[in-house]
Amino acid sequence: MNMKSVEDIRNEIEVIDTMINELLKKRMDVVRTAGSEPLYSRAREAYIINRVLPDTDNEYYPYYYRMQNLLFDLTEQMQNRIGNRADRFLRENNEMNGFTDSVFAVSQQASADRIQNPDKVINSTVGSLSDENHDLVAFRCVYQIYNSIPDSHKAAYASGIAGTSDFRKAVYDFINRTGELQMPHEVIATPGGTGALALALSCFTQDNDYILLPSPGWGNYRTMAKNSNLNVESYALINDKGEADLTDLMTKGIYVMKKCHKLVMVLNDPCQNPTGISLSDSDWDKLTAYLNKMATFGSVVLIQDLAYMDYAADGGRRFLKHLNDLSSGVMVMMAFSCSKSMTAYGMRLGAAVLVNGDQNEVDKIASVFTGAARCLWSNVNNGMMECFVRVTRDNIILLDRERQPFVELLRKRADSFIAGARACALPLYPYNDGFFCTVKIDDETMRDRLHKALIQKHIYTIKIAGGLRIALCSMNMDECERLPRLLSEGLKECQNG
Ligand code: PLP
Repeated sequence: MNMKSVEDIRNEIEVIDTMINELLKKRMDVVRTAGSEPLYSRAREAYIINRVLPDTDNEYYPYYYRMQNLLFDLTEQMQNRIGNRADRFLRENNEMNGFTDSVFAVSQQASADRIQNPDKVINSTVGSLSDENHDLVAFRCVYQIYNSIPDSHKAAYASGIAGTSDFRKAVYDFINRTGELQMPHEVIATPGGTGALALALSCFTQDNDYILLPSPGWGNYRTMAKNSNLNVESYALINDKGEADLTDLMTKGIYVMKKCHKLVMVLNDPCQNPTGISLSDSDWDKLTAYLNKMATFGSVVLIQDLAYMDYAADGGRRFLKHLNDLSSGVMVMMAFSCSKSMTAYGMRLGAAVLVNGDQNEVDKIASVFTGAARCLWSNVNNGMMECFVRVTRDNIILLDRERQPFVELLRKRADSFIAGARACALPLYPYNDGFFCTVKIDDETMRDRLHKALIQKHIYTIKIAGGLRIALCSMNMDECERLPRLLSEGLKECQNG
């Protein structure tokens, strides 16, 4: 058989590219006739993809899919230019509606109101732990050790982009305190859990991919997905009976796998923000079996957000043993954060922890993560890395002793709030552990109306998809007792118009 030379193949591709370019020009000419009137919506794009693209078993599917999405993007970009909606300096696809952090904005409003009306305000917005006097909790053992670290050490660059070797070992040992996780792993230091999530999005996904996110879930996942030009598919963790259930996650995961031949998903467990759900052992068994099955269709990345892990009543490490059941087709990246675990929100320290059966794969990805970290922030807080090592390696008993009363206090606040909610039939998502619980309000208009009406009564909560988030972490016992009735009254008033 006569083999084509590489030169022949190049020439053939050039002919095809010329045809594609001619078609693209034709397509843009047609787009121009619509002016700046937007041509696409999510639904319309989905319809076109389903109609235009070949069946999903085709090996080229991910490329068709990206090409089609690129066409949608190019259309939008050109129309934005025609309509003067594009900025001259910014890259295309930026969020052009400005950025407001919904939590910080409402929480600032609440703080200002508290100065004027100290006895009336209930500020249930802040996602950091406060004591019964509303003072931010800062573990003494952490800051005594931090203050004992020489200034020259705090001032110095860290010895490596991926973090010091002591820190990387200390993070893994701290997460795997029970020793139940026995898998190849690697740790890369990051600025907070957010840094770990940013590395994951930057290295595991590309423009127009789908990412599977929890809903309700931490709002910043969506902001980050948008920033990475990703499409979001959401899964509900609650079924119609109000129980935690993985059925929707599984269905939506299949949908994403079909589209991208890859499933990248975020799970915030234990102590989910905002509901407080922690998966049971049987949920974890189902999840690992499902992810292994999905890995036979394409690659699977499980991003597990551990931000609130240390506030689970059972120690928050139950999930570890289940990760051992995952096949090498599932890459796990745990986003670890010192913000809550060490009460060190402002120190900006965390880690991306890669776990997979194949050490070579882990090492390869760790090296890519390290390169990405160098581009995004270089290295992290050196003094705090040293502090983390000294606390968790040498003084773990002090940390546990200082945290435990707050785990118990959170439990008491939750028990009081949930009992109050039950007494006045206020619907809540199921709560197991953690900083937050959530009042369930599916009707967005009603939720917005209630949120606004509550502010008139000096009560500040956070709007999330499917309800209002209640920050048990920042309210005292008295407020936890009073708030359910106030919410229930407010809801009834809004329902009655
Ligand atoms: N994940 C969740 C669910 C969070 O609520 C937060 C912070 O609020 C983070 C991650 C990130 O925290 P940080 O970047 O401070 O570690």
